[in-house]
Amino acid sequence: MKKIYTSPNRLMVFHIKNILESYHIDCLIKNEFLAGAAGELPPNECWPEIWINDEHKYDKALEILEKNILTDEVTLPTWICTRCGEKLEGQFTACWRCGETRYR
Ligand SMILES: [Zn+2]
Repeated sequence: MKKIYTSPNRLMVFHIKNILESYHIDCLIKNEFLAGAAGELPPNECWPEIWINDEHKYDKALEILEKNILTDEVTLPTWICTRCGEKLEGQFTACWRCGETRYR
């Protein structure tokens, strides 16, 4: 197992896990429920982390992340969920609140 990504932004962590799984790279999230312990641990040890099960896929996973995260953040505009009105970052393809997929 190898850690590939960590961020204070849980949504981003889940988004990246989804991307990796879409490329058939097994991964899991650690520290998902540790946020409540902030204050007792150094802040960056409370961030959710993504771990790759197969270390041989680490380089490929990193490549996928760089390609997806960088391009998404630059090119995709913020969007508003058509069902619940939530404002969502461009990298999300579905509403985290109600599950509605992005209107295209
Ligand atoms: Zn919604």
